[in-house]
Amino acid sequence: MSQTIEKSAHTNMFAPRYTQIPTFMRVPHSVAPFREIGGCFADTLIDIGLIGVPFDGGVTNRPGARHGPRAVRDMSSLIRATNNGFNPHEKANIYDLGDVFPEHPFELSESLDSLTEQFKKITDAGIIPVSCGGDHSITLPILRNLGKGLALIHFDAHCDTGGDYLGSKWHHGTPFKHAIDEGLINPHKAIQIGIRGTLNDPDQWKFSFDSGITVITMEDFEDFGYSYVITKIKEVVGDSPVYISFDVDCLDPVYAPGTGTPEIGGFTSREALRMLAGIEGLNVIGGDVVEVCPPFDTHDQITALTGAAIMYEILCLVAKAIK
Ligand code: MN
Ligand code: MN
Repeated sequence: MSQTIEKSAHTNMFAPRYTQIPTFMRVPHSVAPFREIGGCFADTLIDIGLIGVPFDGGVTNRPGARHGPRAVRDMSSLIRATNNGFNPHEKANIYDLGDVFPEHPFELSESLDSLTEQFKKITDAGIIPVSCGGDHSITLPILRNLGKGLALIHFDAHCDTGGDYLGSKWHHGTPFKHAIDEGLINPHKAIQIGIRGTLNDPDQWKFSFDSGITVITMEDFEDFGYSYVITKIKEVVGDSPVYISFDVDCLDPVYAPGTGTPEIGGFTSREALRMLAGIEGLNVIGGDVVEVCPPFDTHDQITALTGAAIMYEILCLVAKAIK
C-alpha cells in the first residue's frame, strides 16, 4: 500500500450511501493521472483507478452501453466496504479517475487509438485500471498498455474473436482476436467462459479454437459445474499476470436484461460471483465490466447493480494481488 488512508479523504465512504456525488464504490474522485506536471503525476498516490469508459461506437446491434458508467456509478453506492471479511480500501488507495472518452467518438478506429493514449497516462502513473464500459471494444485499448503475452479470463456469451463485420475491422465482437494478433494476450493462457447462443456462421469463433484458447461453453458449465471451471481457470492461467474481462451478457438475461446482445441460458449472478471469488490468489493486474446498457435496463436497474457488484469483486481480486 502506498500510504496510510486518511478517513477525511474518504468522506463518501462514511456518509449515508444515498448522499454525495456517486463515484464508483463511493471512493474519492481524482483526476491526478491527467494532470501531468513536469514529468510527474500530482501528489496523490493511487494504487487502483476505477475508470468509466462511456463509449459504444463498436456496438453491432442495440446501442446504449455508453450510458453504462453513470448507471453503474449510481448503483455502486449500494456496495459496502467489506466483502466476505476483506476490505480492499485497507489494502490499497483506490480512486475514481472519472471517465476516459475519445476525442472524436464517431471515428471508430481513431477512438480506439485515443482510448489507448489515455489509458497509457493511467498505467504510466503505475495505476492499476479497473474499468467500466462501454461496449467490449474498449478492452483492447486497455490491454495495449498492460504488456505482452498476458493471461486472460474472459466471461461472455460470445468469444469476441470474430473477423471483419460490415467492412469494419474494429467492433465489439472482435477485441480478443486483435489482442492476440497484437501479441497482448497469450492464447494458451486465455480462457473464455459462458459461450453459447446462435451464430451467423458456425465458424464464427473458429479463431478461438484454432489459436489455442480454452473455451468453456454453457454446456460444459452445466455438465461439470463451477468447481471445474475454477480449477480449469487456475490451470490455464497459472501464476502469469492475468486480466479479467467480464461482459454482463455472460449472465442470463433474467439477471442482466440491460445489455445490447442478450443470450438466454446464461449464468445466474450467484454462479458468476462464486466463480470470481473462487479464483482468489491469481496475479490479477486489471479488469473490466462491459456491455451494461441502461436503455434496456428497465427493471429496477438490476443490470447496473449487477455490473457494480461484479466490478467490486474484480476490484477485490486486484487489491488482493497487490504485493
Ligand atoms: Mn463481449
Ligand atoms: Mn457478449
